[in-house]
Amino acid sequence: MQPANASNEQNAPLNPGDEGPADAPGVGEDVCGACRGTGLVEGQRCAVCGGTGKVMRGIGGG
Ligand SMILES: [Zn+2]
Repeated sequence: MQPANASNEQNAPLNPGDEGPADAPGVGEDVCGACRGTGLVEGQRCAVCGGTGKVMRGIGGG
């Protein structure tokens, strides 16, 4: 159990499509497949990348 008000300075919000923080080893930036990098899906902000058009994908490995 962690305290609810724990402060994490590096706690950048991740979007649903992100597999890890941008500065994590083995994670690279990739174009969001849901909005194809536009950040918009049918005129609405893409929920997968949060409107950035980019997601963090795990690279390397299999
Ligand atoms: Zn997107």
